[in-house]
Amino acid sequence: MKQYETIIGLEVHVELATKTKIFCGCSTEFGGAPNTHTCPVCTGMPGSLPVLNKKVVEFALKAGLATNCQIHQYCKFDRKNYFYPDNPQNYQISQLYLPICHDGWVEIETSAGKKKIRIHEMHMEEDAGKLIHDEWEDCSLVDYNRSGVPLIEIVSEPDMRSADEVIAYLEKLRCIMQYLGVSDCKLQEGSMRADVNLSVREVGTEKFGTRTEMKNINSFKAIAHAIEGERERQIELLEMGKAVTQETRRWDDNKESSHAMRSKEDAKDYRYFPDPDLPPIHISSEWIEELKKGLPEFREEKQLRYQEEYGLPAYDAGILTESRHLSDLFEEVATLCGNAKKAANWFMVEVLRLMKDKGLEPEKVSFTPKHLSDLLEMIEKKEVSPQNAKKVFELVFDEDIDPVAYVEEHGLKIVEDTGLLTDTITKILDANPGPLAELLSGKDKVMSFFVGQIMKELKGKANPASVREALNAEIEKRK
Ligand code: ADP
Ligand code: MG
Ligand code: ZN
Repeated sequence: MKQYETIIGLEVHVELATKTKIFCGCSTEFGGAPNTHTCPVCTGMPGSLPVLNKKVVEFALKAGLATNCQIHQYCKFDRKNYFYPDNPQNYQISQLYLPICHDGWVEIETSAGKKKIRIHEMHMEEDAGKLIHDEWEDCSLVDYNRSGVPLIEIVSEPDMRSADEVIAYLEKLRCIMQYLGVSDCKLQEGSMRADVNLSVREVGTEKFGTRTEMKNINSFKAIAHAIEGERERQIELLEMGKAVTQETRRWDDNKESSHAMRSKEDAKDYRYFPDPDLPPIHISSEWIEELKKGLPEFREEKQLRYQEEYGLPAYDAGILTESRHLSDLFEEVATLCGNAKKAANWFMVEVLRLMKDKGLEPEKVSFTPKHLSDLLEMIEKKEVSPQNAKKVFELVFDEDIDPVAYVEEHGLKIVEDTGLLTDTITKILDANPGPLAELLSGKDKVMSFFVGQIMKELKGKANPASVREALNAEIEKRK
């Protein structure tokens, strides 16, 4: 069989996290009873007029600047005409001729190395409503809460060659948008949606093959499946001497196969024309400069800084910077306790473990940084045992308790009174003559048994290292 190469370009829709919609003052909040976040504008009532939300332009500009795009400082909105019940105006306000951002790129990294994926353009548009097909009543319902929620569509060049690259690209976009705070980019909730354009060509040839487009696949796993499935389908057609038809297909992840939805439509099918209700936008160079200055430190820079400034391993720095929220929290703790390495260790072990146990996303982790730094200080000063510190931290993580007060109130402060320690050691040794004999005959294995028993007796309010030390001294005396 011939060797084939997969060519992939993505159209990614990102819902912008503005408070209100793109052309009216309705809330963009997800959920809510159907048709409660609506008004004459976003339900397409005749005579209503759109007014552009400036925040949408700001977010789109930030997204474009962060992905190395050029800006069309003079840009316009166009009407994309089509009929569908989730689209109340019978047209979608979008940008065709002068998209706000164009010709950018992002760098991705896969096991094959680093690579630049070019961005053809990025434009602003409005989302449609949602249709709910009620199989019992044999009817369809429409909810316009999502109608008019702002989107940016990011169109890549056909630069990707594998599912790995596609996923790395989507993760990269998501990370950038989350760092900017312009979108939470949740595939499952639909705030990030990807259409996959795919064609195959024989290895060594230049010309692209005919592509198909698969719409709105909503998980990375399904995207990987869809790419594999579509690649095989196209190769099979070509091997049989048939042609690939340019069309839109729907990927069904349960059946692991796709079916044709409609033949590919062209721009002319939509009868695009400049929207007469919205004046063109002028974006000043001053505004662009201001936004550029305000861009945050992104993940790669942060990751390098953590390695250089804090001496963290690349792996740890990578994990700690996956989410801007978590990295901010970590940095605050590191600054407060003055020991970034200790703070990083705690995040890498305890914070990650609790997040995993509780199925919590990084964005949802919230505790007062001072509470963790206080706890780390108590461990450092040997005021609380590492075991108890972990238990106390779980309460900080869950309920944001004040660890200093908690340790005090619950009598968890380590006993420095050596009298009590010696008494407890004597008590435990005398209560366990068998293991004691073994210990005296040099069997060190029972040592941990005794340390455990003594810690238990002291309710963990001792430091294992000092218990071990005192125990050794006592054994030496008895030998
Ligand atoms: P349209 O606007 O009709 O959807 P575009 O030419 O703008 O078409 O391309 C849409 C997407 O398809 C882009 O992401 C582009 O990279 C990708 N694409 C274009 N041609 C091919 C091809 N032959 N194989 C794979 N992807 C392609
Ligand atoms: Mg398209
Ligand atoms: Zn509205």
